[in-house]
Amino acid sequence: MNTEAVINGTELHRKLDVLHNPGYSPELCDQYAAMIGEILQLKAERAAVVLAHNYQRPEIFEVADFIGDSFELARKARDLQGADVIVFCGVHFMAETAKVFNPERMVLLPDMRAGCSLADSVTAEALAERSEELRRLYPDLKVVSYVNCTADVKALSDACCTSANATKVINRLDSDNILFVPDQNLANYVQSQTSKNVISWDGNCYVHHQITPAEVERAKAGIPGLVVIAHPECRKDVIAMADAVLSTSAMMQYARESSADKFLIVTECGLSDRLLMEIPQKHFYKACKLCRYMKMITLPGVRDALVNLRYEITMPDEVRDGARRALERMIQLGS
Ligand code: SF4
Repeated sequence: MNTEAVINGTELHRKLDVLHNPGYSPELCDQYAAMIGEILQLKAERAAVVLAHNYQRPEIFEVADFIGDSFELARKARDLQGADVIVFCGVHFMAETAKVFNPERMVLLPDMRAGCSLADSVTAEALAERSEELRRLYPDLKVVSYVNCTADVKALSDACCTSANATKVINRLDSDNILFVPDQNLANYVQSQTSKNVISWDGNCYVHHQITPAEVERAKAGIPGLVVIAHPECRKDVIAMADAVLSTSAMMQYARESSADKFLIVTECGLSDRLLMEIPQKHFYKACKLCRYMKMITLPGVRDALVNLRYEITMPDEVRDGARRALERMIQLGS
């Protein structure tokens, strides 16, 4: 994270060298370093902060004021002080969450194509229909939505949750029957951790869902002593092979504190890049799965967002108020 000093191309190249990515040539690092300087200047002029998800490109981390998982970013957005503009380097539903907590601030997403296959798998209309149906069977039904969904789906939920606090939120809700949307893999994982009845939705994250046990097995066979850390959005058979099942920020902490020095990081590759840059003395092997939506955010996109104040996130007041209620409930139950 660098918001004060401007990095030069040589330093940036040295820093990115740990990623062993030939794409980061000295010439490209020079261009990025100049752009980083420009963005830091624009941030100061616009009184802007940059929030970045763990899955972003490594060069984006250089202009971020804060990097984290979706829960940390939601909390950060809620507690922000003294900024007029938020540039959100993540996907659309995350920028919506920042807007929910900052109705008076301008929230910008550098590329409106940065959506999410998981968020797209549930609509407010389908959720309203399904929960009405299920309430006939389970009058005490509560709806919990994983934060990876649109604001209008959050507005129909009793509480939101993240992968870090899903089990805690469900256990603390006063109902034995929970409709959990939209991730079926996370729902299955939570079901294995709670005695409550968790009814899943038929959605998944295409990035995590494509990772197979065979890929994990191959890595384990080739690297003795490898510790496998998986994200709960992975399939059940992949989770069964993991030494730890953690959210992205919990993975950072685990890798820092563990006495092991070789890890297979079974989630989107951006997190492995962050680990390689921040904990260079340990070895991180990645599942090599990129989220095409997360990678739509680029340094030129961030610069253009600040120059042109685009693309602004807006939503109706009633959606914002409903989503805020569900997100506040998550913060209250899940902290
Ligand atoms: S990694 Fe999966 S859940 Fe996250 S933004 Fe990409 S598609 Fe959505």
